[in-house]
Amino acid sequence: MHSDPNCIFCKIVAGQIPSRKVFENDEMLVFHDVKPWAPVHFLMVPKEHIPSMASVTEEHAGLLGRMMAMVPRLAAQEGCNPYPEGGFRVVANTGAEGGQEVHHLHIHVMGGPRPWLKG
Ligand code: AMP
Repeated sequence: MHSDPNCIFCKIVAGQIPSRKVFENDEMLVFHDVKPWAPVHFLMVPKEHIPSMASVTEEHAGLLGRMMAMVPRLAAQEGCNPYPEGGFRVVANTGAEGGQEVHHLHIHVMGGPRPWLKG
């Protein structure tokens, strides 16, 4: 599996940097954002180093589909209120103009009662 030794999320995946884990399987790791914008805010990352959504191709369709399919269960587990009064936001910042700071593909999942710090 491709990994980048200088990437902070690869280091989290490898256990070299601690994280508050939400879920893990052989292909993805889910952990709480260290600076949450919302009462619930976690990040879903593929274990493989994919730099951004801009790098995604057809070969990643299964992985991304399985990641997205986990969102409702993990959002509920972490305390997002039920749809439609509750719900959550799913965001993949991509590139400088897309607001991406960490260049390892990650999906933000945010939810919980408003107001939020951002978004
Ligand atoms: P983005 O701007 O989409 O690249 O978001 C990167 C996110 O990663 C930010 O919300 C950061 O708070 C979060 N982050 C950075 N370092 C860590 C870390 N060590 N553990 C958890 N979240 C982190």
